[in-house]
Amino acid sequence: MYKCTEHLNCSGKNISLYAQDGELKFERCNDCGIIWRSPDSMHILKPYEQAYFDSKSYSKRRKHKVKKSGWLIDMARLHHLKLSKLLEVGCSIGHTLEAAKNRNINHLGIDISNYAVEFCNKLGLNASVSTFDQLKEVGNKYDLIFMQHVLEHFENPFSTLLDCHNLLNDVGLLLILVPNSKYKRAVKYNSKHRFYSLNGVGSEHFSYFNYSNLRKVLQASGFKVVQENYPVFMARHNSFEFFVNRIFRRSLSFFNSDQEILVIARKTDK
Ligand SMILES: [Zn+2]
Repeated sequence: MYKCTEHLNCSGKNISLYAQDGELKFERCNDCGIIWRSPDSMHILKPYEQAYFDSKSYSKRRKHKVKKSGWLIDMARLHHLKLSKLLEVGCSIGHTLEAAKNRNINHLGIDISNYAVEFCNKLGLNASVSTFDQLKEVGNKYDLIFMQHVLEHFENPFSTLLDCHNLLNDVGLLLILVPNSKYKRAVKYNSKHRFYSLNGVGSEHFSYFNYSNLRKVLQASGFKVVQENYPVFMARHNSFEFFVNRIFRRSLSFFNSDQEILVIARKTDK
């Protein structure tokens, strides 16, 4: 049954169909509110290679994306003043890695796509097609693990978070961005929305969270949430442009109009 029965003590009985597009089905656990890909549609997968990056115009507006990733790193640095080693899981074509390099933060990105990793390497960024197990064998530990729209791509988010826990230093941080299951348009349009449709990202994703259940998932995985959403005030690394951007994003969330949720969590004892 769904992993929340094992890790969040959900009953596993309070399940209802949430969205269906042909063979692709999502069910909601009404105990925790997590929306899971149904077991009978787990076989539907989308290839993740160069076409993926092309289809999303990934290399466009690189400068802008590096800047925004940098802002996220800066927010994490507020909670970890000596942050010097960053691991990005699902580094894609390296926007975050480039932002880390610009800040003299030691960085490594991993991705399942050869195309993405080669793209990073050509830019002089450290990236490899490694698994969590390979990283654990190497034995390096990190101050920040960055997962931007990645957790929802894993079948079992709890085991992914356990892997992150093992790869972090004692007071290490995890920064997560995932789609927001309460996003107004996705709730309204349901299976016609790209979150749940075959033509959208539904066939790439296995779970959808909101702030409340992501916090529970993190607590159950040995993390304490230190920040949800964008802060209004920042004592360091601030800029007027970033301030305006943060206020804008916070006001979106007020109306459930934010497509993604942002959480920073600190490793605790498990
Ligand atoms: Zn549940």
